[in-house]
Amino acid sequence: MALTTSPRGTADIFGDNLNNWLKLEQIIRKICRTYGYQEIRTPIFEHTELFERGIGDTSDIVEKEMYTFTDRGDRSITLRPEGTAPVVRAFLEHRMDQGPLPVKLFYLGPMFRYERPQAGRYRQFHQFGLEVLGSDDPLLDVETILLPIELYKTCGLEGFVVELNSIGCPECRARYRDDLKEFIRPHLQDMCSSCQNRFERNPMRLLDCKREGCRKVLADAPVILDYLCDDCADHFAKVRAYLDALSVNYVLNPKLVRGFDYYTRTVFEVTYAGLGAQNAIGAGGRYDGLVEEVGGTHTPAVGFAVGVERLLLALESEGGFKAAAPRPDAFVVQFGGQTKMKAAQLVYELRQAGLQAELDYLDRSVRAQFKAANRINAKWVLILGEEELEAGKVKLRNMDEGTEELVDLSEIIQYMQSREE
Ligand code: AMP
Repeated sequence: MALTTSPRGTADIFGDNLNNWLKLEQIIRKICRTYGYQEIRTPIFEHTELFERGIGDTSDIVEKEMYTFTDRGDRSITLRPEGTAPVVRAFLEHRMDQGPLPVKLFYLGPMFRYERPQAGRYRQFHQFGLEVLGSDDPLLDVETILLPIELYKTCGLEGFVVELNSIGCPECRARYRDDLKEFIRPHLQDMCSSCQNRFERNPMRLLDCKREGCRKVLADAPVILDYLCDDCADHFAKVRAYLDALSVNYVLNPKLVRGFDYYTRTVFEVTYAGLGAQNAIGAGGRYDGLVEEVGGTHTPAVGFAVGVERLLLALESEGGFKAAAPRPDAFVVQFGGQTKMKAAQLVYELRQAGLQAELDYLDRSVRAQFKAANRINAKWVLILGEEELEAGKVKLRNMDEGTEELVDLSEIIQYMQSREE
């Protein structure tokens, strides 16, 4: 193990890439404000049981992807693999269910899954997610789809597709599951081992299998939409009516199921074809049973999560999303000795006035200091020579225009600020 390599599936975020992250985060916070979501920051780790109960123990995540360890107090702890169960836990812990409903929360932060890393799939990745708790209004399902669409559009992303389905409630699903199993059973021996393993415990997950042979078997399988009970069908019809009224483009995908057990009724996924195998840039759905599962009273809820790295990859492939690198206002060039002392004071004063100011820390020649100023693309270079100092002046060079002028040291900040406006 090389000490100079980060663990597999993790990444450092810095430089131009970090600027893109910051730009994206700013857009996210702005959109969340317009939709009335408050930020919540939950712990990076939770009790393992929260995820086992919340996500469901037949899910890939709980079966094989959690970073779980026993802490020194003998508790089983898991690094959060997703954000919904922690938000539901916090909702109950802080009695938000007793306050005005619905509660609208968003989060932004790292998640951890022990997956096989590949392009767009990491072991530490980041999600922006939102959760609305305390209402079963189909309009909220729609708003939960609208917000990420607005995010993608604001970022300039074009080629994304919203896929939509309803997976009904436990009652509709029970009938569907039986019929699906009957349909699959005669072909089970032709399916992959993962499908065979899941067949009894969670047959709907077989619809998710990407293997060609399994997909062929399932091509003519019954679809859940034909099994929805009256209430679920009515709910889905309203979701679709709102989507149509708001001119939201989507594709109905009756085979869309999600990897978590907690979803009920509406589920959706946003894909971006340019990303290859890991093409989901966001996904979500309604989870009317999760709050109860975690220990609360029946509280309908709906949410969505966007994969930040994948969204940035998609934006990168379209080439239009580049944050401008912040540009320093000033680089103070000095000639050593007393002039360095004066430069230190000047830089301090410039920074106090809110200007980004730099100087040399490597005893470089004046020529090299100019080069450094150019490299960081400083707007101004302030030259503090012995002569200028004696006259109480500083030479100000505008790096874009190539012009130079002598300015009184006592007026330099005011002068630069007036030129900035
Ligand atoms: P999920 O929580 O599995 O519904 O995922 C929501 C979104 O998070 C996905 O659509 C992806 O964009 C992103 N995502 C999930 N798993 C990973 C991963 N291992 N690496 C990077 N992004 C991921």
